[in-house]
Amino acid sequence: MRDFSYRRVHTVDEARHLAAEPVAMLLAGGTTLLDLAKCGVAEPDTVVDISRIEGLAGIAADAHGATIGALAKMSRVAEHPGIKEHFPAVSESLWQAASAQLRNMATIGGNLMQRTRCAYFRDPATFPACNKRSPGSGCSAIGGITRNHAVLGVSDACIATYPGDLAVALVALDAVVHLGERQVPIDDFFLLPGDRPDREHPIEPGEVITAITIPGSPAARCSTFLKVRDRQSYEFAAASAAVGLELDPDGRTIRDLRVAVGGVATKPWRARAVEEALQGKVLEAEAVRRASLLAVEGAVDRGDNRYKIELAPRVVARAILALGEVA
Ligand code: FAD
Ligand code: SF4
Repeated sequence: MRDFSYRRVHTVDEARHLAAEPVAMLLAGGTTLLDLAKCGVAEPDTVVDISRIEGLAGIAADAHGATIGALAKMSRVAEHPGIKEHFPAVSESLWQAASAQLRNMATIGGNLMQRTRCAYFRDPATFPACNKRSPGSGCSAIGGITRNHAVLGVSDACIATYPGDLAVALVALDAVVHLGERQVPIDDFFLLPGDRPDREHPIEPGEVITAITIPGSPAARCSTFLKVRDRQSYEFAAASAAVGLELDPDGRTIRDLRVAVGGVATKPWRARAVEEALQGKVLEAEAVRRASLLAVEGAVDRGDNRYKIELAPRVVARAILALGEVA
């Protein structure tokens, strides 16, 4: 690891001021930052420790909505009674992420900002070509081993999967990211790679995530997160689905459906085609399975990752049908 200067700040304004420096990185829980520094991907001149800023770790949640401070720890959010009751998909996505030790250290803001697990991105010594790391250098993954790479939202410049779980639940539930005064809908907070995969978020230099808000709704209250992975813990998603469901009073007709998929796309992926296909329809297994195929509309298969195109619709259908039993 290269030498860097360390600055601890106590206010958001101080953080903004220092984070505006060209090679400054914020440290919240430090888990991603250390990981990236160890493999030589992050080489900050200055590390700005925001973990002691007061007032950014609060959690409030009821039927009307949730506000989660950017410094709230993943484990605290996962076990918060209001989150569990009114936004179960959020709680479940956090319980299934990383390990207990990491969840106790890592923050909500840091979780949203985590970087891809693309093995080529994380090994600069062996694979210098990576457009995300070094714009214009090429992409070592295209033509390489692609088992964990994305099938949706890809470009000729980058096919790296967005790895996080929480953001998938937040995208399904229409959360909003607060950057101080500025607010960005969560779906717009994650950029497609296009020809600039190095730009992952619309954050300007010096901007800091201060909070996440989630609107309350019957679909948020009846929501779930299902994650399929190679081993049962401490593993990123091969495919995941966050689903929220509201039925008409007849208990059979779909009034409101929210679907997002993870582990298969370059950003947390809202599957609006699935929602539209089932809106106003009777919740019935065959119709759900057929509509779930639309979750991977436009998917690009690169051989090793073809299995994700079959897996993701099954995960979506399982999550919708499981909710149908409890709604
Ligand atoms: P930091 O390491 O402190 O920061 C991460 C990045 O976010 C930095 O670039 C920092 O500048 C930026 N940042 C932090 N806070 C802010 C802010 N408020 N405003 C603007 N920028 C900010 N995640 C999952 O979702 N699912 C998993 O299954 C999973 N498994 C994991 C397994 C391992 C082995 C590891 C190391 C991580 C795993 N993670 C997983 C990711 C983990 O959840 C993240 O490392 C963690 O959430 C990052 O939070 P942090 O507070 O430690 O961030
Ligand atoms: Fe880099 Fe993206 Fe290619 Fe991975 S897929 S090597 S992150 S450009």
